[in-house]
Amino acid sequence: MSKLYDKKVECPICGNEFTTKKVLSSKLRVEKRDTDFMTYYKTENPIKYDVFVCSECGYSAMEKNFNKIRPEWKEIIKDKITTRWKKRDYSGVRSTEQAIECYKLALYCGELLGLSSYHIANICLRLTWLYRILESEEETKFMRFSLEKYKDFYYNGTFTQDTSNDATIAYLIGELHRRLGEYQEAITWFSNAISSPQIKNNLRLEKMTREQWRVAKESAKKS
Ligand SMILES: [Zn+2]
Repeated sequence: MSKLYDKKVECPICGNEFTTKKVLSSKLRVEKRDTDFMTYYKTENPIKYDVFVCSECGYSAMEKNFNKIRPEWKEIIKDKITTRWKKRDYSGVRSTEQAIECYKLALYCGELLGLSSYHIANICLRLTWLYRILESEEETKFMRFSLEKYKDFYYNGTFTQDTSNDATIAYLIGELHRRLGEYQEAITWFSNAISSPQIKNNLRLEKMTREQWRVAKESAKKS
């Protein structure tokens, strides 16, 4: 059994206090990881609870960003979200479908508020993973969105302590291309990842990159 608990949250937009479920980290048991970093757990998957949704005003964001608001966002959320918000409550146990709704709300808010392409890409990647659980064709659509946003970040964004490093992002871009059947692009990006000095600090990533590079080359030969 997975152990969920209620976390108390205060909405930074409207001040409403609500609770949202979290998975006790001590109870997490990793089962396996996909090559695009999707992690499967023997217990409840914590990614389902990574988005907080305010039941009062509709403001939604991933936990990491939930409190990082700019003053002008209050008006934007009130005008564009709250006026159309039909009160919905995501405080309970979430089905995969409900988790997808939460991420879509976070995506909508994130685009409205102009979150960085890195954060938008992260939301889209999690939607990709959730649709994978459902074995839905929507997975490909969000994989494409995620890929384009990571590329935008790679070329135009700023790598900081709050973001993954350039080797990790280059690897991920390569892997998403590979999964979409675009093997030449995948090979180029895996090569970018390997030539980044950052990769020397991450042996696991280096090993994964070399392995997926080999897989992409083989697929390119066959196709
Ligand atoms: Zn609120």
